[in-house]
Amino acid sequence: MSDSITAERWFLAHEGRLLQRDDQIIFTAADVGDTDVRYGVDDGFGLAVLAQRPVGLTAVDGLRGLLARSVDEVEYARLARASQLATWHDQHRFCGRCGGTLQAHPQDMARQCPVCSLVQYPRISPCIIVLVTRGDRCLLAHSARFPPGRYSTLAGFIEAGETAEAALKREVYEEVGIKVHNIRFFASQSWPFPHQLMLGFFADHLSGELVPDGEEILEAGWFGVDDLPDLPPPFSIARQLIDHFFAAKHDSSTE
Ligand SMILES: [Zn+2]
Repeated sequence: MSDSITAERWFLAHEGRLLQRDDQIIFTAADVGDTDVRYGVDDGFGLAVLAQRPVGLTAVDGLRGLLARSVDEVEYARLARASQLATWHDQHRFCGRCGGTLQAHPQDMARQCPVCSLVQYPRISPCIIVLVTRGDRCLLAHSARFPPGRYSTLAGFIEAGETAEAALKREVYEEVGIKVHNIRFFASQSWPFPHQLMLGFFADHLSGELVPDGEEILEAGWFGVDDLPDLPPPFSIARQLIDHFFAAKHDSSTE
């Protein structure tokens, strides 16, 4: 499908990273020069993977900041998809079975081995992300990966053969040593760091007291609306879970 992609507006990528010129990340067809391959991103939007990085363009350094400035979910999804396709293309150059050089698939959004016909689709890694609640309070944790003072929901990758619900129970138990129940799906979000699909849930505390594992999670606590720590940015599904929980509590207390 790669050669047949036409679009008015283009993301450009080189070596797995989107490119920018100053603050500009959307380019015109005239900016698409020597192209390895082209992918469709959205109606009227394409991604061109360039063999060489054009003079004056630099790799996007602050993808989180760009996503945070998205004006709506359409723009967010477009940017997330372009970024993930760029990463995937860069990391899937050769066949994992026979080592052949992958080529664009004739119909699908995929790459195919010309030797053994193995097809590689863009990689998506499903993860659970959960806000565990206990009465008026919610469980927030400080991860070793966070900036100082930042707390968020728990999250983790779903393992092969595992359901989302089983992964959620396992991750919560492994990271903070409690058991949960009453798992409710909230929403999902594409999270291009580099290719997660975050499946957002609420769950209720069932038993146990918080014991952070000391590796992934350094601190964890039950927080109420009046004592919230530094939280993730509003566009993240982590923050949406937290905001939704306290908004619902507020609504029910003022009815
Ligand atoms: Zn092969």
